[in-house]
Amino acid sequence: MKQLEITINNETGLHARPAKTLVNLVKQFKSNITIWHGEKKANAKSLISVLTLGASKGSQLKIEVNGEDEDIALAEIESAILSGLGEGEPVSEPAAKPASPPAPQEEVPPVEESKPVKANVLKGVGAAPGIAIGPVYQFQHQEIPINEISDGLILGWESLQDALARAREQLSKLNHQMVEKGLKAEAAIFDAHLGLLDDPELTEAVHDRIQKGQDALKAWKETIEDSAVVVAALNDPILSARADDLRDVGRRVLRIMVGAEDKADSLPDKPVVVVARELSPSDTISFNKDFVLGFCIVNGGPTSHTAILARALGLPAVVSVDESVLKLENDSYIIVNGINGSVMFNPSPEELQAAEQERNAWLEKRRLALEQANVPAITADGHEVEVVGNAGSLADAEKALKMGAAGIGLLRTEFLFLERTTAPSEAEQFDVYRPIAETMGKLPVIIRTLDVGGDKPLPYIEMQHEENPFLGERGIRLCLNRPELFRQQLRAILRAGQYGNLQVMFPMVGDIEEYRRARLMLDELEIELKVPRIVAGIMIEVPSAALMADVLAKEVDFFSIGTNDLTQYTLAMDRGNPLLSAKQDGLHPAVLRLIAKTIEGAHKHGKWAGICGELGSDPYAVPILIGLGIDELSVTIPSVPLVKAQVRDLKFSDLQPLAQQALECATAREVRELVKKQLNM
Ligand code: PEP
Ligand code: MG
Repeated sequence: MKQLEITINNETGLHARPAKTLVNLVKQFKSNITIWHGEKKANAKSLISVLTLGASKGSQLKIEVNGEDEDIALAEIESAILSGLGEGEPVSEPAAKPASPPAPQEEVPPVEESKPVKANVLKGVGAAPGIAIGPVYQFQHQEIPINEISDGLILGWESLQDALARAREQLSKLNHQMVEKGLKAEAAIFDAHLGLLDDPELTEAVHDRIQKGQDALKAWKETIEDSAVVVAALNDPILSARADDLRDVGRRVLRIMVGAEDKADSLPDKPVVVVARELSPSDTISFNKDFVLGFCIVNGGPTSHTAILARALGLPAVVSVDESVLKLENDSYIIVNGINGSVMFNPSPEELQAAEQERNAWLEKRRLALEQANVPAITADGHEVEVVGNAGSLADAEKALKMGAAGIGLLRTEFLFLERTTAPSEAEQFDVYRPIAETMGKLPVIIRTLDVGGDKPLPYIEMQHEENPFLGERGIRLCLNRPELFRQQLRAILRAGQYGNLQVMFPMVGDIEEYRRARLMLDELEIELKVPRIVAGIMIEVPSAALMADVLAKEVDFFSIGTNDLTQYTLAMDRGNPLLSAKQDGLHPAVLRLIAKTIEGAHKHGKWAGICGELGSDPYAVPILIGLGIDELSVTIPSVPLVKAQVRDLKFSDLQPLAQQALECATAREVRELVKKQLNM
C-alpha cells in the first residue's frame, strides 16, 4: 500500500467540480483508493463519498492506494491535486501583499421580476404554446410508505439488484430517447442518474445495512436519504441539484421494488394543471398525458427541461412564474397561457369565459394550421421561407411529411452510435439512412455527421478525460481525429444519397480548416465510390464561425445555425446547467447579432442560411429570424404546421425593421416584449 499526505488548495475546497475530476481520474485505476480527512473516510471512486468529506481550502488529506497500479495512481492523483483539479494552479499566497479577499459569490441573477398586470395575473415566460384551463395540482413527490409496505415484505439484496438492473434499463432507454430527440441536456441528466446507481459507496452502504438484517427497501431508502441530506447540507447550489438527483434515482428504484413503477408520481386521476417549483425530466416524462392539461413552473426558462419536454408533448407551459403560485389551493382554477406567458388564478366567471374563447380560437388556429399543412410558408407580401423538420429516425421523417415539412433540415445521427460496444458498420448505417432518403423522395434531407464528444463518450473509441468536455473534442473535431470512423459514416451517407436528396452537414465547425479537411474527405470518397458531388454545409454553433461567416460562405454550400449551442457558447452558459436555464434564451441580442452576421455572410456569397436549434420553433423568434433574412427554419415536427401558418400571417416588410430594433435591445426579455407589442401577440 502506498500513501500520501496532501493539502487541498482549491479556493472552495473539494466541491462538486474538482471532486468529480478527482473521482473520474481515480476510476481509471484498478487499485483501491481511500481518502481520509481527519476521521472521515471516503472511497475515492464514489462522488457522493468524496463530497461528504467536506474538505475545504487548507484541508489536509491522507490518500491510501492499494493495488497493482498504486505507483502510477498515486503519482497522477498527486499531480492532479497539485495542479488544482481542473481549476488551475492553486496560487501560492504572496508574502508581502495580503491575500485578496475571495471574490463575492456571484449569485445567479433572479429572473426579471414577474409583475402582476391584473391583481390575479402573474407574468412568466411562455415556454410551450397553448392555453390550459383547469384545477391546480400542486405537485410534490409522494413519500413511498416503506413502513407499511415492508411489513410482510422482506426484500433482500437480490431484489435490490433486480430493481437496480431494471432502473438501469429504464434510464438507458430514457437517455436514448432524449438523444434521439436531440435533447442533450435531458439525456445528460438520465446519464448522471445512471452514474449514481453505480456509485460504489452507495451500493456498499446499502449492502452493509442489509447484512445487518435491514430489509432492502428500508436500507436503500435510508441510505439515499442520508447521502442526500449530507450532500444538500454542503450548501452549494450545484450540490443541491445532485441531492435532488439522488432522491429522484432513489424513488425510481423504490417504485420498482414495490411494484409501482408504472404509476405516475402522485398525480390525481383527473385532468389538472401541474404547478411546481421545478420538475425533473423523470417527473415530466412519467406524467400521464391524459391527466395533465399544462404546466406552471416557478424555476426554469424557455430552454429548461420542463419547457422542452412540454413542447415535445404538445402541452402549454409557463415557466419563471412568481413563487406565490405555489400557495394556490389545490383544485382552485388557474389559466396557464403559454402563448403570452401569463398565469391567471382564481378567474371570475367572465375571465374564465374569455380564456375559454381564447383557447378555442387557439385550438381552431392549430386545427387550421394542420389542415393547411401543405400550403407553402409565404408571407402575406410574398416572401417565402422554407419550413422543414428536425428528425432522428425514419418514423420522424414519415411524420414530418404528414405535417407538411418541405424536407428534413437536421437529421441527427448520434443515436446510431450510442449505447453499444462497437461502432455501427457502414452497411448498418446505410440501412438506416437509405429508407429515410427514399421516404423523403426529392425533398432535401440534411444529415448531420456524428455529433458526440467528451460530454457523451463512446465506449469503443479511446477518449481523453477532459475538464471541459463542451470545449473539448466534440463534433467535427472528434471525427477529424478519427478518420476511419468518419469515413465509414461519410461512405454510408454518399451511398444512401443515391436513393434520394441527401445533403451533409458538419457540426461544431469553428474554422475553415476543419471544413476543408472534411470536404476533402468527401471529395476523395466521391471519386472512390463514383458518385456525384454531395451538397455540404456547416452548422454555425460556435461564435468564431458566426463571426467569420462571410469567409466561410465562400466555400461551404450552406449554413444551418444551431442556436442551442450558439446560445450556450455566446452567453458562456452550460446548456445543461439548471441554475442557468432561466437566462439561456436564444433571443438574447448577442445571439441575434451573431445570427444576423451569419445570414449576411451567407447571402454575400449567394448561399442560404437556416436555423435548426430550438429557437426556430419559438413563435416569438420566428418573426425576428425572418426579418433578419433567414431562408430556412428547421423546427420540431409538431411545430411545422404552426410555424408555416405563422409565416403566412406575417408581412416581411414589417419584420425587417422589427428585427433591426431587436438587435438594438438590451436583453432577451426586451426582445420578447418588443415582439409581443409590435405584433399584438
Ligand atoms: C444546436 O446546437 O442548436 C443543435 C441543433 O444541435 P444539438 O442540439 O444536437 O447540439
Ligand atoms: Mg449543437
